[in-house]
Amino acid sequence: MRIERAIDYEHLSLLERVLDLQPTSDQAEFKCLCPFHSETRPSFYVNFEKRVFYCFGCGVGGTLTRLLKLLKLQPQTEQVSEETKANIYDVLQAAQLFFRDQLRSNENAKRWLKEKGREHFRDRFGLGYAPSDPKALREALSNFPNELLIQSGLFGKSLYPVLRNRITIPIHDENGQLIGFAGRSIDDSEPKFLNTRNSVVFHKRLVLFGMNYALSLLEKNRGNEELWIVEGYFDAMHLLYNQLPAVALMGTALTPTQTHKIVARIHALKRSIAVVFGLDPDPAGLDAMINAALSLLTLQVPVRVVLLDRDPDEISAERLKSMPRLSITAAFVEYLIRRRPTPTSAAKLLLRLPDTIRKNVWALMNTKVKVFGTEYMRAIHKCFEDEKRRQPKRFLPNLRGDFWELVVAAAIDRVFDPKTDLDDIDVAAILPDRLKKVYQFAIGEKVQLSEDEEQLYAKLALSRPFIVSREILLNGIRKAYWHRRIREILDEFAKNPTHENAERLRPEYLKAKEEFEKLRGVDTDKLLNFAEFFDSMFSS
Ligand SMILES: [Zn+2]
Repeated sequence: MRIERAIDYEHLSLLERVLDLQPTSDQAEFKCLCPFHSETRPSFYVNFEKRVFYCFGCGVGGTLTRLLKLLKLQPQTEQVSEETKANIYDVLQAAQLFFRDQLRSNENAKRWLKEKGREHFRDRFGLGYAPSDPKALREALSNFPNELLIQSGLFGKSLYPVLRNRITIPIHDENGQLIGFAGRSIDDSEPKFLNTRNSVVFHKRLVLFGMNYALSLLEKNRGNEELWIVEGYFDAMHLLYNQLPAVALMGTALTPTQTHKIVARIHALKRSIAVVFGLDPDPAGLDAMINAALSLLTLQVPVRVVLLDRDPDEISAERLKSMPRLSITAAFVEYLIRRRPTPTSAAKLLLRLPDTIRKNVWALMNTKVKVFGTEYMRAIHKCFEDEKRRQPKRFLPNLRGDFWELVVAAAIDRVFDPKTDLDDIDVAAILPDRLKKVYQFAIGEKVQLSEDEEQLYAKLALSRPFIVSREILLNGIRKAYWHRRIREILDEFAKNPTHENAERLRPEYLKAKEEFEKLRGVDTDKLLNFAEFFDSMFSS
């Protein structure tokens, strides 16, 4: 099965410039501090697949088109700032000359490079040194206006340089244009790596370090049919120096924009080039691998994994070339063998894999029963089934699982046959008018939403799904039904309290009572919470 994820890259790369979008567990979704109200923790969510945004803090929400309007951004912004861009490139170029000069005269920095065995990278990758003195860089760039210096990302708002007492690593875009710097501390100061600030030309979530070098190696040398993705700058330099095309992530997981760029560039070369993840076999590396499986595999790019036993830059190029390339499936099983996660965490990891890969993983595990042990595998299987049962049912592709609960909350006050299956409920028929239109919009019918409805749609599309089992939902509906039946029968008797009437109603009453008693243990609190949530949707 191919999972098509239609992510809106155009809006993503546009918004990534002005919003500090942080990844969430959903690859198409990001969160950040709300640009429309003041907050310290992000409650502003943007989803580039559903093309909506919503702030759970102040309630502003709607389509991406509306967001652009509110932020006064226009898709043409990029052309408008062409001149500014050119000026920023000049500033960065001047800074690069300054940093390189500084490295020549700074003994500490030179010693650090020598001790780390990284001297040979200096000229090949244009390494430099940002001095400790906060005034030095500003003086070197004194012929540029202050505003431009801030815009370049080299300085903070108070004109304090971002990188101090660090080895500087120039970062280029895919075409080789200098767009920013990374800085590696040479004393013990944290963080070890720091980037210049995001600017109109540089955003670390949009760029992969080394892409320009990797592309030129791939174009020049037909023998290179692999593109490595590694974690660190120096890892990438080590591979590139040894003629192996490589890029480094810049302190983040692979972002959709980055994935998109890799895939587009590989397809443009019209050769079968595999993406090779050179990862440490640790949880962080595994996470990166799973995300890669989800994003790259569906985009028809072969993905291989090399499980490293140390940092890539400590492994010789010859050995890197000969280390076994594993499929995602094999790498995953290898990870389970090496790490032995608890059955619960193994089951949770399995659940995150696409169906086909999961089936392959399970089949491969079955061929290694001796290694895993029957009991471990049985435990994983049991946890997996339990976890799966707890997953919310996806009702509509465009809305989260909670839409289901909203439907049931709406349904609980209505008369349903107790044999009703959730799948049989005619959703449009039981929804209040306002939600009905949102529902139609979500299933792709052509309806025009008002601003309010658009906002409600965004809220529903981005709300956290409630995790509740199908069984609880169904029992809730049944319990409500029998409770209502008992009341109706009693009312009917009260209207006409004769002996005949009592005899007539008795069998039905006993049956309703018995069914209700059977469900006495069913906790309907959760459902009542949904009902409250449901109400809150309409009272704002
Ligand atoms: Zn807000």
